Amino acid sequence: MEMKEIQKTQGVYISTYGCQMNVNDSERMYSLLEMLNYQPVSSPDQASLIIINSCSVREKPVHKVHSEVGRYRELKKANPELRIGVGGCVAQQEKDRLLKDVPLLDFVFGTDSIDKLPEIVAKVKSEGQPVVSARFEHQQPYHIETLIKNPGVSTFVNITKGCDNFCTFCVVPFTRGRERSRPLKHLLEDVRRLVDRGVKEVTLLGQNVNSYTSDCGTNFAGLLKALAEQTPIQRIRYTTSHPKDFNQELVEVMQACRDKLCEYIHLPVQSGNTQVLERMNRGYSREEYIEKAQMIFNTIPGVVLSTDIIVGFPGETDEQFAETLSLLDEVPYESLFAFKYSPRPFTKAARFEGQLPEEVKSERLNRLFERHRELAFPMAKKYEGQNLAVLVEEYDSETGRVSGRSTQNKLVHFTGSQELIGQTVWVKIKEAFPQTLRGVLVQ
Ligand code: SF4
Repeated sequence: MEMKEIQKTQGVYISTYGCQMNVNDSERMYSLLEMLNYQPVSSPDQASLIIINSCSVREKPVHKVHSEVGRYRELKKANPELRIGVGGCVAQQEKDRLLKDVPLLDFVFGTDSIDKLPEIVAKVKSEGQPVVSARFEHQQPYHIETLIKNPGVSTFVNITKGCDNFCTFCVVPFTRGRERSRPLKHLLEDVRRLVDRGVKEVTLLGQNVNSYTSDCGTNFAGLLKALAEQTPIQRIRYTTSHPKDFNQELVEVMQACRDKLCEYIHLPVQSGNTQVLERMNRGYSREEYIEKAQMIFNTIPGVVLSTDIIVGFPGETDEQFAETLSLLDEVPYESLFAFKYSPRPFTKAARFEGQLPEEVKSERLNRLFERHRELAFPMAKKYEGQNLAVLVEEYDSETGRVSGRSTQNKLVHFTGSQELIGQTVWVKIKEAFPQTLRGVLVQ
């Protein structure tokens, strides 16, 4: 009983919304809170500390925070020692307004305050007063070591933070602040440490990785080259890149270091129409984007491209949407992530005229996915009969199947054993499905 009490008073539950950046931040929070003796628990009722790591990209983000905190009202009544905090983009955006709106909260911390979390929690506990820490630390260098408890075979490494691009639909520059890059030296050390812990693949993470600039002047191409040549990491991926910053030098480095740099690029286009791209402030035209895609295919034969598209941007006409549809015929995307436009606080596009009805956006989104399905399945079929190098990440003891990703970022399943986890093996593809491939181990 006593043991249970101790565990209960030291449990932390983090509820994570949104993108991979937030998932990574939550991992970091768990590791930082270990310093205060908090252990992760799997449900809020086991916790004495609950953190909502919020996201502003979804609709009604503040409302979501309200309703989640409301669900913890009874827990707080039953355990007055329970502390509840909100971090992430909504916290950054709303700051002390959140405390006023949601009196049940004990603390609010912004995206630049994650490393202060142990301090904030200690202060809340000792002083019993609510705490808000949500200032951007623009002048501070971006020095963080990847903190992750169980990095596994493949893990994410933050290389930049924030964004200076101000795409008119995007709230990130307001919630993550100005762009900052981690020093090259730190990243090399970080990746070497992860390799020592068994990591075989890293995915470099940032809002716009290819505008990375180290304090020593190294650009993103230089970073990739240095990681490939100066660390024993087996595979390197990255996300997300911006088409306007994608250049020949970067593509050449990818080709030259092909044994380590995966043959997969996520290159968000957002729209296939130049006028819409201008209103989005993306910094490239349809033609320029197609040229870059062509340059990538010419330099790295066999590379796989995926993209993000927003449909129903304010003022998007049927003809302009038709250009987005026709872009799929010009650029062979093997995967597509598409969304309906929805206005975000602080963004310019939220105030644009010509906001479109939901039915129009839904109809366009369906047409886009339908067209992509028609084109993507034949692309997946081309893998049948090919041998792909797969880094094994998981084993399912019930089915006896293992799964992993090829360098083209294809999820591959085949029969195997637990011992294969962490190994890169050749798999002959027998059957392609829209999202996955099934194969057999090449002995
Ligand atoms: S580049 Fe990406 S993160 Fe930056 S403003 Fe544009 S969409 Fe947002």
